[in-house]
Amino acid sequence: MGEAHCQDTGGIDCAEASRRLWAFLDGELPSLSKEEVEAHLKYCTGCTHLTEKQQQFLGLLHLDHSPAGLEAQAAALRAKILERLAEARASGEM
Ligand SMILES: [Zn+2]
Repeated sequence: MGEAHCQDTGGIDCAEASRRLWAFLDGELPSLSKEEVEAHLKYCTGCTHLTEKQQQFLGLLHLDHSPAGLEAQAAALRAKILERLAEARASGEM
């Protein structure tokens, strides 16, 4: 019926998502759990923001050479570039 709250979607909630975040970023989650976290991140900006922070933190600690880790790093970099472009456009530099 309504889709106002995370809990109503049948997916995992914020507490569960943040509990799985480290394993998710390390690529250690089974694919089903991973899909649940990814699905949650798609509609939850709070957890997406948290994930990006954790990715940056992980990037400082060690380089993740797993395919999932490299993909996440590439995605984070891409997002950062797009963000910079949007900022530049908004301030009239481009
Ligand atoms: Zn969330």
